[in-house]
Amino acid sequence: MISFHTSPLAQPGSGDSGGMNVYVRELASALAQAGVECTTYTRRTHPDQADVVFVEPGHRVVHITAGAFDLPKEQLPSVLPEFGDAVIDHMKNVSPADALHANYFLSGLVAHRIKHELDIPFVTTFHTLAKVKAEGGDLESEWRHDAEADIIACADAICVNCSEEENQFRRLYGNPRGRIEIVAPGVEHAFFAPGERHGARRALDLPDDVPVVLFVGRIQPLKAPDVAVRALAALQRPDALLLVVGGASGAEGDAEVEHLQSLIQELGVQSQVRFVPPQPHHILSTYYRAADAVVVPSRSESFGLVALEASACGVPVVASGVGGLLTLVDHGETGYLVPDRDPALFAHYLREIIDHPLHAAALGRRGAERAKRYTWSFSAARLRRLYTDLGARELVACG
Ligand code: UDP
Repeated sequence: MISFHTSPLAQPGSGDSGGMNVYVRELASALAQAGVECTTYTRRTHPDQADVVFVEPGHRVVHITAGAFDLPKEQLPSVLPEFGDAVIDHMKNVSPADALHANYFLSGLVAHRIKHELDIPFVTTFHTLAKVKAEGGDLESEWRHDAEADIIACADAICVNCSEEENQFRRLYGNPRGRIEIVAPGVEHAFFAPGERHGARRALDLPDDVPVVLFVGRIQPLKAPDVAVRALAALQRPDALLLVVGGASGAEGDAEVEHLQSLIQELGVQSQVRFVPPQPHHILSTYYRAADAVVVPSRSESFGLVALEASACGVPVVASGVGGLLTLVDHGETGYLVPDRDPALFAHYLREIIDHPLHAAALGRRGAERAKRYTWSFSAARLRRLYTDLGARELVACG
């Protein structure tokens, strides 16, 4: 596994750490449990990080020194050659591999190079793509567009999360030479399962008798936390609380936090919004269980683990009708899908949930039932078969 720009060991919920970190960590561990030994290579971001961390039997994370520990994200491409050299060296001398799996386009560039140097297949999961982001209004550099095109032209397989994402990929990028494989992410049901709301609220010091709406995720424009705040204001329930769990992320993260603060003032909902710093992954289940509803107002979303985790905890989800969220939320059955991130419509559906507890409980029950389809061991089984198939095929030729 290549996870160049962010480590599976990092705390998700702020900076560059989110769903991809959870995906790499959970998948590599599930693969290891399925008998596929995994080494994840990531860039060292702190001098104290050990060269090798044994996450569990069969899964280790190798920290590679390439550039300053605190290198800004824009400068990361300059250390790709150094990082690639060190990974090749490790693979040749310590840990030979049968297949490479790159996460995010920067890792894809590394894997592409290694494929040619070591003659092994490479699989890529983009997590986000420049053309998809552009459709949501977030523009990326031409360099990134070109880099993604190079990766797509030579990847032996491209993993997408759902058929919705496959359709979107083919619409924007055409048919690649390598195969497109749907590998849905999973959810750790041992942590994310329905539980008692009263106990969860007590644990979080939240009152029992007020509506609680939850937003979980990295604070950046792509995640549209401002829509959550606007929806809270449009709800016109002065007793309702909005919890925002997560921290600033990306170049515009700090500005987005400031924007949120002034929006909260402007809408007069200061006493109703509580910011909570990023929480260890498994602890989030308590936050989900405490909530009446979880809002996911993202501009684009390749999958949306937060929506899946909320459903697994039996909590209705009100989400934007984009990307993977279209697959995860069954409109009117497990939650609601909102077109165009309309805050008034978010508020309308939140009211449906808050004012009709029996209906809300039914949405939650069906969501939890539906979430059972998604397990990391199932995702790992698909990948295991894919890696084996690719080992027996001719590699996609570049150019
Ligand atoms: N997350 C977490 N702690 C936090 C906030 C988020 O563990 O405080 C996790 C969350 O449980 C989810 C992931 O970060 O698994 C976010 O994934 P998602 O697909 O929703 O968004 P992404 O970060 O990929 O855009």
